[in-house]
Amino acid sequence: MIVHKFGGTSVGDADRFSNVADIVIKHHREALVGPPEESAVVVSAMSGVTKQLIDGARAAAEGQDSVYREIKAHLLSRHLDVVEALLDKSAERLEVGGLMEDRLHDLERLYRSIAVLGELTVRGRDVVTSFGEQLSAHILAAVLRERGVRAQAINATELMVTDDHFGSAAPLMGPTRERLEARVRPLIARGVIPVITGYIGATEEGVTSTLGRGGSDYSAAIIGAALEADEVWIWSDVDGILTADPNIVPQARTLDELSYAEAADLAYFGADVLHPKTIRPVLENGIPLRILNSFNPGHPGTLIVKAPGENRAVLPAIISTTGLSLIVIGSEDDSWTLPMAVQALQRLSEAGFDVLMLSQSLSEHNLNLVVREQDQAHCLKILRRAFDYDGLDSVCNLGVKEKVATISVLGVPGWNDTGVVSHAFLALGKCSTRVIAVAQAAAEHSVSFCIPEEQVADTALFLHRELVPIQ
Ligand code: ASP
Ligand code: MG
Repeated sequence: MIVHKFGGTSVGDADRFSNVADIVIKHHREALVGPPEESAVVVSAMSGVTKQLIDGARAAAEGQDSVYREIKAHLLSRHLDVVEALLDKSAERLEVGGLMEDRLHDLERLYRSIAVLGELTVRGRDVVTSFGEQLSAHILAAVLRERGVRAQAINATELMVTDDHFGSAAPLMGPTRERLEARVRPLIARGVIPVITGYIGATEEGVTSTLGRGGSDYSAAIIGAALEADEVWIWSDVDGILTADPNIVPQARTLDELSYAEAADLAYFGADVLHPKTIRPVLENGIPLRILNSFNPGHPGTLIVKAPGENRAVLPAIISTTGLSLIVIGSEDDSWTLPMAVQALQRLSEAGFDVLMLSQSLSEHNLNLVVREQDQAHCLKILRRAFDYDGLDSVCNLGVKEKVATISVLGVPGWNDTGVVSHAFLALGKCSTRVIAVAQAAAEHSVSFCIPEEQVADTALFLHRELVPIQ
């Protein structure tokens, strides 16, 4: 059995939905010629929808009625456009169109109650963001049926049982497996393709939860592991995991085979194509994972397995992340201490903010923290409060540099005798990039640089030219 997962850009508009249906059907039909192959599909919300749902909820909490109404209207017309385009002659058009209207009506009611409360909780936000996947799963299942394949949309709140860590819930594998066995396995056995919502789940009490932004990959891995799939295929919009972001570095090459550990590293360092938590469920069950391109389905993409073949291309990768901000906290003299650094990190983590990179300079008595730009104001508030309360205000300097980026260089063991780190420093020394902070673990195979955002494209291009041979 193959579990296919399609991301937001793969279902970004009517043409993309149609293309996804072609891929699923082609695979299904091919399988019917050979030994019977079974498939399940996991789908994301249409691109940008989850963000709009959150924007709407924030607007509601601030009492901006017209903003959330506009968002709801926009979402309705975007989904109805797809229904009109693809189910035009279908008997299901009215039903699926009606379902979109009903669900978005529910969303507006929810927004209204958030507006009345004047507050958006993490739990409430999970309910709001669960709408996107529900809409896309129903559309995709209907398009598949329209093309003569048996398919059924299933809301993962019925399948994916999670803890109550809303906003970033963890799956409970035992009950999840039981539900998939009871509800999904029989469908698959009858040749019906289940189209399951990614990203969302529910607690044992039935309260909607989500696995965290970008979590549909994780859903697919959990579902693949629970159903003991032969492989999990993540369909995105690039040819697998590449040596750099192809939008910045056109020469970027596909990494044809990676070990689970290497892929996990790349994902944790911010390679966008894969949610970092995706690896563990497939690793534990030894299930191969493929990263494929729905825009270029003939490309073999990246295969992630326990032991990659000896003939694979061994290349370093350059991962760049923008939209970040650097917070510097410390003191002029030596009153900034390590326990204070621990406290700063703890407060941010308790409040649910990710610190994407940190570096502590002993001589400068400060801690550099890279956070997402949109989290910056909140993080500053938390730090200010933490150190004020403890009477440390006088020793504490808090500063911020906006618009930074990180560039990480990751090597694969065996790429070069001396490891990738010294090569990365050497290459960086040759270009005029201003390095603001550096983070490197004792292991020789990765290093991250924090640099001004405006230098990220030139730096990535330069490093790639120096470190990755042309094919
Ligand atoms: N729709 C969710 C998000 O945008 C989950 C996903 O696409 O993986 O975060
Ligand atoms: Mg994704």
